[in-house]
Amino acid sequence: CGIVGVVGSRRTKEILLTGLTKLEYRGYDSAGILVAQPESYYLKKTAGRVAELKKLTDSLNSEGTGIGHTRWATHGEPTEENAHPHLSKSGRFGLVHNGVIENFEQLKKDYLSDIYLTGETDTEVIVEVVDYFSRQGQEGFEAFSSMLKVTEGSYAFALIDLENPEQIFLAKNKSPLLIGIGTDCHLVGSDAMAMIGETDRFVEIMDGERIILSASEMKIFNAANEEIKRDFYLAEIDA
Ligand code: GLU
Repeated sequence: CGIVGVVGSRRTKEILLTGLTKLEYRGYDSAGILVAQPESYYLKKTAGRVAELKKLTDSLNSEGTGIGHTRWATHGEPTEENAHPHLSKSGRFGLVHNGVIENFEQLKKDYLSDIYLTGETDTEVIVEVVDYFSRQGQEGFEAFSSMLKVTEGSYAFALIDLENPEQIFLAKNKSPLLIGIGTDCHLVGSDAMAMIGETDRFVEIMDGERIILSASEMKIFNAANEEIKRDFYLAEIDA
């Protein structure tokens, strides 16, 4: 029931794991992280606690672009397979999602009739829809935007395109998601607690916006596809 993400840090894995620990209070049944470098990535999931995830990733490198998730299952059992992040079958896109997709059965029929989905979650459908649009020739962010146009429900999304893992794409609708401005990196989280100790500068995200987050840049687009500027606000929180 929480999301955390980091782009451009040498401590990405640690920030993700600390963030997920801070989100534990929301309750969850499984957890996972995806950490990507230009030439490689790892994806680790567990139907257990974040402490288990820490063990699983102990020897793995920390830097890169990463997304993490604690899940509160709404569609599909709380198993390791159904835990997020979800990777598209092509292996290109990795997605974390909080919320419920209302029209995932319809999306399956419209776009994925030739794809056999092994899992049971609404989220897997979404990452395959992004992959579908990319196979139609769209760039990563364009494919992400096309998916948003056809998706109905509540969501906070953070997506990594493993062909260009120096960015994270974000969007939300009726689920919380907040950007954090780190020292040399950008962060994202379901709430400020997920980023505690890393920053006290936050940028709001509104429903209907799409965002490209890189280490040095934050590009926010509104529903009319215009780029907009938004200042950060300061929020000092105690650990
Ligand atoms: N509906 C998604 C699932 O069941 C996301 C649940 C959540 O918000 O954690 O996998």
